[in-house]
Amino acid sequence: VTACEHLVIGSGAGGALTASMLAQAGRDVTVLEEGRWVARTEVEPFSLSQFAAQYRSGGLSATLGRPPIAYAEGCCAGGSTEINVGLYHLASETTLARWRKSHQVIALDSETLAPHAREIERALSVQLLPDPDFPASRVLADGAQALGWPAMEVPRAYDYSGAEPVKQSMTETYLPAAIASGARVQCETRVRRVAMRGNRALGVLTTQGKIDAEHVWVCAGAIGTSALLRRSGIRRNVGATLRLHPMVKAAARFDEPINPGFEVPVHQVKPSGTELSFGGSASRPGLVALALADNWPQNRKVAEQWEQLALYYASARPEGHGRVYPLRRFTEPLVRFDLSDRDVHVLAEALGRLVRLLFAGGATAVYPSVQSVPALDSVSKVDDLVRAVNRHNLSVMTVHLFSTAPMGEDRGRCAVDSFGRVHGTANLHVNDASLLPDGPGVNPQGTIMAVAARNVAAFLADD
Ligand SMILES: Cc1cc2nc3c(=O)[nH]c(=O)nc-3n(C[C@H](O)[C@H](O)[C@H](O)COP(=O)(O)OP(=O)(O)OC[C@H]3O[C@@H](n4cnc5c(N)ncnc54)[C@H](O)[C@@H]3O)c2cc1C
Repeated sequence: VTACEHLVIGSGAGGALTASMLAQAGRDVTVLEEGRWVARTEVEPFSLSQFAAQYRSGGLSATLGRPPIAYAEGCCAGGSTEINVGLYHLASETTLARWRKSHQVIALDSETLAPHAREIERALSVQLLPDPDFPASRVLADGAQALGWPAMEVPRAYDYSGAEPVKQSMTETYLPAAIASGARVQCETRVRRVAMRGNRALGVLTTQGKIDAEHVWVCAGAIGTSALLRRSGIRRNVGATLRLHPMVKAAARFDEPINPGFEVPVHQVKPSGTELSFGGSASRPGLVALALADNWPQNRKVAEQWEQLALYYASARPEGHGRVYPLRRFTEPLVRFDLSDRDVHVLAEALGRLVRLLFAGGATAVYPSVQSVPALDSVSKVDDLVRAVNRHNLSVMTVHLFSTAPMGEDRGRCAVDSFGRVHGTANLHVNDASLLPDGPGVNPQGTIMAVAARNVAAFLADD
């Protein structure tokens, strides 16, 4: 392809949906994706081999800062939706109202998003587990009940109608729909920069050559979109306000086997009056060993009992923020993130609460991901744990990144308008996680997609 009407960069949650809606409206669409198309049967979900096949940098990405934050993103057709857990939420009206106020976002409320969300939920088969009696998940529900904290089973994007449950990632849903409507999806093509003349995007320069386009939609994820825009000379309010949901982890041991290896808990716990959230993580044996690696000499033997172990996390909405800096001659940008002292304190408290929750749910020992802090065999040691945590010994990671090109009418702080068009440009759009003004406090894919659908609908109505 050397020219097209709509060029979509990135094929993840934002890009696949954008391509599909434009193609279904009869537009000529080309999607460029840096990663390759990995068939579902090629890799085991949540396995270490999936890191090599579908994660950016093999899963080894971290922010600069103290503590460094390990972050994961997909780099394949379907983007992060191929490696994620498929848990589905939509941002609450309280969150949307905060965004309307803080960034002057117009036409963004639950009522406007509802029809888009309904269509996405249908397309992704969002539903509860047919058989929710899954022990590693029940630990969260039981613990929450014992402590009087609210818990819920979170619906997921899964199809359970065949012999095996199939996660409804973008390569199962929106990408085939886009292709069926005539879109071309070109994988293993990295966009180096968007070519601009004045306020117009002319097309892109890629690792495979140049492509002209009438409209360019940048959907390369919060890190990739901001790095690409900055490389293309679009720097105003881009890349300087990275937000994320930091997670701290613990492995819990039980008397009985509770971990089937392949399943991820579907319950989440959110104590009222806090912005904390607790849930379960993928717990294949290799991942259990990684989580125990902070204190490997003491934990090595325990890792062998992986069937009695499962991994859990506590997550928060921090006040700190980060920056994305593309580097000349390097493919990946440098990412910095500064957790404030208050953020570190909140994460330490969150870890303490997670340990209480796990003991209340039946754990007999808990192994927090904190260097040189011993395993706990009862709740009586939780206060010692919280006191021992600091920015030098806490392991923090994230899979939720946003806000590097925030949307809104406040040109002092927003990179793009309320519908994703880059301020001051005629035909350059952003339609992915970068748009969210800050962390939604819940798993973000549903909100990213609903906002993206609203933006494409507004574009089509206007055009
Ligand atoms: C392990 C994991 C678990 C998660 N679990 C959940 C969950 O249960 N529920 C939930 O709601 N969210 C979850 N998330 C988060 C969710 O998947 C992301 O927020 C969402 O996919 C982001 O959408 P996006 O379109 O912004 O970016 P992505 O889906 O990451 O897609 C961006 C795409 O752009 C491509 N790209 C980047 N740069 C370029 C370039 N220069 N040229 C061409 N292509 C490029 C990338 O390769 C990638 O494929 C999880 C994420 C991870 C990593």
